[in-house]
Amino acid sequence: MYLPVLSPSASHFKALPLARRGDADEPVRGREPIVPRLGRPPRVHLWHIGCQMNDADHERLAESFAEIGFIPDVALEDADIAVLISCAVRSNAEQKVYGKFKELIPWKRERPGRAIALTGCMAVEHGSALLDRMADLDYMFDVREPEGFFARLQSLYGGDVDGPVTMPASDRLLAYVPVMGGCNEMCTYCIVPFVRGRESSRPTAEIVADVRRLVDRGVREVTLLGQNVNSYRDPGAGTGLPELLAAVDAIPGLWRLRFLTSHPRNAVPQLFAAMRDLSSVCEQLHLPVQAGDDELLRRMRRVYTVAEYREKIAEAKATVPGLALTTDIIVGFSGETEAEFEGTVRLLSDIRYDVVHIQAYSVRPGTAAARRADDVPLVEKKRRLNHLLDIQRGIALELNQALLASTVDVLVEGVGENGRPYGRTRQGKVAWLPAGSASAGDLRAGQVAAVTHWQLEIDAVRAAA
Ligand code: SF4
Repeated sequence: MYLPVLSPSASHFKALPLARRGDADEPVRGREPIVPRLGRPPRVHLWHIGCQMNDADHERLAESFAEIGFIPDVALEDADIAVLISCAVRSNAEQKVYGKFKELIPWKRERPGRAIALTGCMAVEHGSALLDRMADLDYMFDVREPEGFFARLQSLYGGDVDGPVTMPASDRLLAYVPVMGGCNEMCTYCIVPFVRGRESSRPTAEIVADVRRLVDRGVREVTLLGQNVNSYRDPGAGTGLPELLAAVDAIPGLWRLRFLTSHPRNAVPQLFAAMRDLSSVCEQLHLPVQAGDDELLRRMRRVYTVAEYREKIAEAKATVPGLALTTDIIVGFSGETEAEFEGTVRLLSDIRYDVVHIQAYSVRPGTAAARRADDVPLVEKKRRLNHLLDIQRGIALELNQALLASTVDVLVEGVGENGRPYGRTRQGKVAWLPAGSASAGDLRAGQVAAVTHWQLEIDAVRAAA
């Protein structure tokens, strides 16, 4: 008997033979699952890597496990099933998933009946090839459509569950909430449209209900997630991200609201106005530019010019007082000349971002860019990356120095090993408070007394308004 392919959308998935449990040297013991009677609810260890979307999928899967009577998020040594939520965006993330899987093999063989499941982008991208590579893999499913996987587990472990498990009260203050999946852009270097599919937005009412539930459990800051979040469209009303922000902003008890990741194409004046007018929406905009040269942007198929991008940034800054800007940049993309790279240097120096995530280009098989030569030598990619990092370090310090003596609000997330509370400002900057001045979950106002490139030191702390 074969475990059914769990995602109807992933038609290239091969049926996965059921658990090859026990010692590797033993012959495969038939195709029937070997699921011991536990006499208690099965326990699940969840592990994820990659973007915030996977972080959100982790939470969503944990809730689904609790709904079918499994105990989610236990330590690995206590678990019966380990679920890996994988990432395929970069090859080093994939290597970490293979490494984690390897670590799980002795764990699985230590106690017959343990099982390993894999989901996330690698499951969609590689499909059946993973089954040959991972002989100890028991289940594989598409995280966008996990119903078949859960139905299968319910049929296997039905005798051990007593009904839904109450999720423990969360000590989380921050949560990610996916509002849409997929991406309709086709940036030539990116694998996301192939592994996450076309854009599909969730109804606003469903998102609002999710956030309400999180706030009731103690969450105070929510980040709305989408690969291309500012192209969000409510499937019924057709309303966009500004209206969604307004609906979520109205939830009592939610202190802070952010959104990730925006595409410059959809960064429109109405969005900036919503950021200015809605009290919970933080003054932080992540607007990936990727490169500062028109020809390079064309090869990346980013559908905007440098001038258009600069205009959007100018409008955002003019509309939202105190706006912090962050971006993503790729260096060493196929054919990137020194002159094209200099365009990126100029853009970075002119815009003066608060934080820049810089990646050296690495080819993702299956993308359009994979058909082009990866012709910038690694050593040159590293030089360009370090050059941008050096410039950015200086800019970040100057921007933070400009905050000296100003008052900022900090949502305290915890207490460090040094005994000092830490958290983030509305602009997303890490801030440290004096020892004993606050606890996790407090909202504090204070004066910026000292800064480094990446952090603020706060004193004269009081309760925030
Ligand atoms: S917009 Fe982002 S997620 Fe979509 S294809 Fe481009 S890089 Fe990938």
